[in-house]
Amino acid sequence: MIKEIKVKTDKRQQIIDITNQVKKIVKESKVKEGIVSVYVQHTTAALIINENHDPNICKDIINAFDKLVQEDGWLHNKIDNNAAAHIKAAIMGPSQTIPIQDNELQLGRWQSIQIVDFDGPRERIIKVSILPSE
Ligand code: ZN
Repeated sequence: MIKEIKVKTDKRQQIIDITNQVKKIVKESKVKEGIVSVYVQHTTAALIINENHDPNICKDIINAFDKLVQEDGWLHNKIDNNAAAHIKAAIMGPSQTIPIQDNELQLGRWQSIQIVDFDGPRERIIKVSILPSE
């Protein structure tokens, strides 16, 4: 079963928590045991599993990637001036996989599923695939 989540970002770089949307899809699937794959269908956005209790960690993650990847000096900037966004998204990766047990996402106490947009504001599409183990 594959469902879709649409997220609208409103900043150039932004992290948005999608845990509740994924939990709802898992609940409605009635799948007791298996895995869920979340996958973002874009080349300048990524999916991470991280803390959201302190919102400053989201700012820290974006700041860390800004320090890691400079904005200027990339060949692709001649096309649409967003090479840094592509590079950051490629480092993070487009997907995450989480176990399902007793029809619940098996996230740790401080873990949440987050989309990271490096080239917003845009509408982003995330595919949620549920794979039962029985
Ligand atoms: Zn581009």
